Amino acid sequence: MCGIFGITDNRDASRLAYVGLFTLQHRGQESAGLVTDDHGSLRHYAGMGLVNEVFNNYVLAQLDGRNAIGHIRYSTAGSSHIKNAQPLVLNSCLGAVAVAHNGNITNADALKTKLQKEGAIFQSSSDSEVILHLAARYRGRTLEDTLARNLPKLSGAYAFLFLAPGKVIGARDPYGYRPLVLGKIGRSYVLASETCAIDVAGGKVLREVEPGEMVVISGGRLKSRRFAPVKRFTRCIFEQVYFARPDSVVAGRSVQTARYEIGAMLARELAGVKADLVSGVPDSGTVYALGYAKESGIPYQTVFMRNHYTGRSFIQPDQRLREFTAHLKLAPIRDVIKGKTIILIDDSLVRGTTSRKIVKNLKRAGAKKVIMAIASPPIVSPCYFGIDTPTKRELIANQLDLEGIRRFIGADALRYLSLPSLVEACGGHKDRDFCVSCFTGKYMEGL
Ligand code: SF4
Repeated sequence: MCGIFGITDNRDASRLAYVGLFTLQHRGQESAGLVTDDHGSLRHYAGMGLVNEVFNNYVLAQLDGRNAIGHIRYSTAGSSHIKNAQPLVLNSCLGAVAVAHNGNITNADALKTKLQKEGAIFQSSSDSEVILHLAARYRGRTLEDTLARNLPKLSGAYAFLFLAPGKVIGARDPYGYRPLVLGKIGRSYVLASETCAIDVAGGKVLREVEPGEMVVISGGRLKSRRFAPVKRFTRCIFEQVYFARPDSVVAGRSVQTARYEIGAMLARELAGVKADLVSGVPDSGTVYALGYAKESGIPYQTVFMRNHYTGRSFIQPDQRLREFTAHLKLAPIRDVIKGKTIILIDDSLVRGTTSRKIVKNLKRAGAKKVIMAIASPPIVSPCYFGIDTPTKRELIANQLDLEGIRRFIGADALRYLSLPSLVEACGGHKDRDFCVSCFTGKYMEGL
C-alpha cells in the first residue's frame, strides 16, 4: 500500500503535490518524495518519515516546475531504506524519467535477473525500478510508445505515475488492482491514488483511470491510450474495507457509506445475537459499529480511547512496563465496559494477536462477554498485489477453524461477514468487480 499524486501545468505544482501526499498519508508512513520538472531538468527530493517531516517551505521552494509527481511509501517489496524511497529517477538513453509506483510486480525478480545479465545496474531493491530499465532497453519513438511496449511485460499490480520533461503519464494494470483517479484543479490535470487527495487539494474528480489505460498529459492536453485490454476489473476490496479514507469514493461508492452498509449487513447476518452495546476497534471499526447499531437497534458506545500520538518516534517504555504499554494506544473506558455484553467490530482478523490483546483488554476492564464481529471474511491466503499480509502459515484462518480462532483470541463468540455480503455492500456484483483473492485463495494469474 502506497500513495501517489501527480499534477501538471500548475505554478504551485510542488505545494499542491505536498497537499495531495499529506492527504494520502494514511497509505504509507515510511518515506515521502517529490520530483518536479523544472524546464526540462528533474528536481528530486525524498526522505524517510512522514510528509510533514520530510518537506518544509525551504525544500518545497527549491522544487520548481509546473509538473510534479510524488509518492509516499509503505514498503512491501524492497527493504526500508532511503534508496527505495520514491519517486525513483533514472537517467538513461531515454533522458531523465521519474516513476512513482503503488503495487507489486510479481515477475520483478525474473525481469531483474534478465536485465542485469544484459548489463542493467539497479539503484534500489524496489520492484518499481524494473519498468525504468525495461523502458531504457526496449525503446519506442516516444516515452508513451516505450511504455506501451513494456508495461504488458509486467505481471501483478500497478498504478504508475511517470514524469519526464514536458509530460506526466499515469498507467494502471490490466486488472485495476490498485487505485488511480483522474481529476482537475482549475485547468491542471491531477492523478491520485484516492479521490480525497483531489478534493482536499481543491480539485474535482473526473473519473478512474481504466485498467490497461495510459493517460498522457502534456501541454495542458490529455490523451488516453490503451496499452492492454481489460482482463477483468478486479479492484482490491480492501480499499473499501480498510485502506481508503472514508471521504474517498471507490468504485463509484463513498467509502464511509460502504463501511456503514457493511456494518448493517453484519447486523443482518448476526440477527438474534443479544448484547448491551456495540462498538468498534478505532478508528476503522467505528463506522461499521454505527451501521450495525442502526440496523440492530443495539446502542453504539465508544469503549476505547485511541491515542493518535504514538507515532514512529514514540519510545517504547522498558519491557517490564509492558502491561501498561498495552493501554497506550487503546485505553478502555471502564465505566462503559463493566458488566456489559459487548459486540466489538474490527475490519479484519489477520494473525489474531491484536484481537487477542483487545479482547483481554476489554475483559480486564470488566466486560461480561465479548462477541467479536469481523467486517470481512476470514483471510486464508496472502496478497501478492502490493498489500503487506503475512505468509500463509501466519494467517490464523489458514491454521485454525472458527472455534480454534475464537479460543485463541479469547472471545465468547466470533463471527465473520460473508463474502457475498461484503461484495454487495461495496457496490459489486457477485465477485466480479473486486479482487477477493485473500479470502478465497484463488488468484487471477494462477499464483
Ligand atoms: S489479495 Fe486481498 S489485499 Fe491483495 S489485492 Fe486482492 S483483495 Fe486486495
